[in-house]
Amino acid sequence: MRLTVVGCSGSYPGPQSPASCYLLQADGVDAEGRSRTWSLVLDMGNGALGLLQRYIDPLAVDAVLLSHLHADHCVDMTSYYVLRKYHPSGTQPRIPVWGPQGTAGRLANAYDLPRRPGMREEFEFHRYDEQGTGSFTLGPFEITAAEVDHPVPAYGLRISAEGRTLAYSGDTGPTPALLDLAKGADLFLVEASFREGDDNPPSLHLTGAEAGQYATEAVSKRVVVTHVPPWHDAAEILAEAKQTYSGPIELARSGAVYEI
Ligand SMILES: [Zn+2]
Ligand SMILES: [Zn+2]
Repeated sequence: MRLTVVGCSGSYPGPQSPASCYLLQADGVDAEGRSRTWSLVLDMGNGALGLLQRYIDPLAVDAVLLSHLHADHCVDMTSYYVLRKYHPSGTQPRIPVWGPQGTAGRLANAYDLPRRPGMREEFEFHRYDEQGTGSFTLGPFEITAAEVDHPVPAYGLRISAEGRTLAYSGDTGPTPALLDLAKGADLFLVEASFREGDDNPPSLHLTGAEAGQYATEAVSKRVVVTHVPPWHDAAEILAEAKQTYSGPIELARSGAVYEI
């Protein structure tokens, strides 16, 4: 699998990066048995659609997975809707968009569309809890979504293909769900938005130290710390995480590519 960091800025776009957006690609076969590259987009935060075009033809995206419906994770879906619906080559086929309950209505509101049909003619909406287990398949990707701890319904994702596994925390406060998500992951993309020692609200985000601690307990093989808000010094948060995780660890950076 190949992971490209499109946007990693926490809570709002920063001077070096859009808000959350990651491109995940793996080889698989299509319905006719032909080999091709499959491309998932994980989150589509503010400003992400612009930079996404550096890494992929935006019409070649197979599916979008939204961790939750805060603006810094989904609001550029409004622009992506325009791109697909009004493209000069014609309206594009519907692609799956996975998210929490209420995703279709949330995106319709964000674009000021009537809630019916909203964007249902452009996107095929699915909820992570529609199959009970939260597990589903897209091309070569086996995906498990698990609810995490955030003020709105929010999910972490565990995605496997080609025998390798990516775990993505989404936005979350401390929760045991992270241990299952990140267990033995080849790469754990984990948020760290808070600093130790601050008066941090509960059930919202992790500190750098907490992110590292979960990676250690889950025995994640490699860690990329993401979603640091521009108002914090990212190096300080990475240093915290290094106190609690001794394996390979670095900060996410827009444009970074990881072969998983
Ligand atoms: Zn966020
Ligand atoms: Zn959030």
